Amino acid sequence: MASGELLGTLAFSEKGSRSHFWAPVSQARARSDGSRGVQLTADKSWVTSAGHADVYVVSTKSVGGETPTTTDLYAVTAEHGGFEVSAPWLGMGLRGNASSPMRFDTGVEEGLRLGDSGSGFGTMMGVVLPWFSLGNASITLGLARAALEAAVGHVSGARLEHLDSRLADLPTIRARIGRAGTVLAANEEYVWATARKIAAGADDAMLYVLGAKAAANDAALLVTDEAMRVCGGAAFSRHLPVERAFRDARAGHVMAPTSDILYDFYAKLLCGMDLF
Ligand SMILES: Cc1cc2nc3c(=O)[nH]c(=O)nc-3n(C[C@H](O)[C@H](O)[C@H](O)COP(=O)(O)OP(=O)(O)OC[C@H]3O[C@@H](n4cnc5c(N)ncnc54)[C@H](O)[C@@H]3O)c2cc1C
Repeated sequence: MASGELLGTLAFSEKGSRSHFWAPVSQARARSDGSRGVQLTADKSWVTSAGHADVYVVSTKSVGGETPTTTDLYAVTAEHGGFEVSAPWLGMGLRGNASSPMRFDTGVEEGLRLGDSGSGFGTMMGVVLPWFSLGNASITLGLARAALEAAVGHVSGARLEHLDSRLADLPTIRARIGRAGTVLAANEEYVWATARKIAAGADDAMLYVLGAKAAANDAALLVTDEAMRVCGGAAFSRHLPVERAFRDARAGHVMAPTSDILYDFYAKLLCGMDLF
């Protein structure tokens, strides 16, 4: 996966704990034939690249785990099998992806567990969260950047012939572009700063990880909304890429941890409270 040869994905979310991905309700069982390893039975509500990925990182409560966060992660390969995609992707936008529900029901050897037994929660928080937040924030801002650039191009060229002017000559249009552009630029720097904090192992890296995804996701909502506004009816037509970015950008804030949860975590960290 690190060399880019295999496509990996996360199978964390479950219907029972919804966006609280750190608390799977499925639970691994000892295998009835007494062999080593466990029986992994889990219904996952959303898995990006379902049916297309080479590796599925699947979370589940550990055998005998008594708290919601006593969890394990298993790397289930496509070759290993033991899973099915329960339904096709049918959602708003994101037509190039396949975020479908999946069912895993398979015996897995201990060797497929990532880390020691019960270490799933720590890996989710310490390894997955920083990478996921950076990647998600970057994609969400890339969508916003694409929408803003298309909007600037459109308002700079679209003419009001009877007035011999362009849309960009309207101060209200420029005000929206200015607001969107500055919010976007600030958030791009926030993501860079977060990457530097993670790379340096800074004490406040977690605060940045929690804040950057939430802020970037909300910035993308605002920027793509402004891009739709300033382009008017043209934004709805497919000759501009704005409507696509507008639709796709809406997924970022619900991809767990959701923005609202992140704001709460961020505040808890600032106030010296436990996150969980
Ligand atoms: C396109 C797409 C792709 C996805 N891909 C994957 C994937 O690859 N792997 C995976 O594991 N999951 C994936 N997910 C699932 C995602 O991470 C979330 O788990 C899921 O979208 C949450 O939806 P829900 O309806 O269960 O939200 P709910 O948990 O029902 O949340 C509803 C609302 O309540 C708010 N809320 C909930 N709890 C709190 C709280 N404690 N404090 C404040 N607000 C709260 C939320 O912020 C949200 O606004 C994907 C989702 C989407 C949309």
